[in-house]
Amino acid sequence: MTREEEMLDWEGPQEFYAKYDPKDILGRGVSSIVRRCIERKTEIEYAVKVIDITSEHLTPEELEEICTSTAQEISILKQVSGHPHIISLNDCYESSSFYFLVFDLMKRGELFDYLTEKVTLSEKETRNIMRALLEVVKFLHSKNIVHRDLKPENVLLDDNMNIKLSDFGFSLQLEQGKKLRELCGTPGYLAPEILFCSMDETHPGYSIEVDL
Ligand code: ADP
Ligand code: MG
Repeated sequence: MTREEEMLDWEGPQEFYAKYDPKDILGRGVSSIVRRCIERKTEIEYAVKVIDITSEHLTPEELEEICTSTAQEISILKQVSGHPHIISLNDCYESSSFYFLVFDLMKRGELFDYLTEKVTLSEKETRNIMRALLEVVKFLHSKNIVHRDLKPENVLLDDNMNIKLSDFGFSLQLEQGKKLRELCGTPGYLAPEILFCSMDETHPGYSIEVDL
């Protein structure tokens, strides 16, 4: 590796660490860690999703898949950030080893933990959460974006208990009429169309309906 290449390699992380101070871990995924971080200049707290693309623990195919899906995740987030019920992507850094995606910090964490803790929700609260979720799915589908990993773990709550949809790691923007066949999502939450499609070669494929 030439010196220029080496510097290019580290440009992303260096810029990130110059601007943010990483803190405790908020969540973990297969190839990502989400940490609380503080912007040094403003002392505002954010959440950073660090996606590891170092090849030691990955096959070349897995590596390529993570890079492609992360590029898609970023491109979709840039399109939908700003919607009141979608997580805001504030900043983004990239190197040949890591991606850093800086989001608004959702202090109250996952809807999953909130539901587990509360067990029963009032009809009013349930209605507000469901309305926000349905509006956000309608908004995504109007742009032909399919999320493919809707679940309470990927719905986050801010200080005011507003919900925001996050984790666009399996999201895709579909061309009109395009069908999908890939088996992806989270086992306990898979849509029947995704399962049928994976078991039957003659299945015509699935589309945005899998989010419903
Ligand atoms: P993965 O693709 O690995 O599932 P996610 O984007 O869903 O990654 O993040 C994993 C977990 O990290 C989430 O389920 C949540 O607990 C936590 N997390 C992610 N983003 C934020 C955020 N903006 N604020 C607070 N916690 C977050
Ligand atoms: Mg997730």
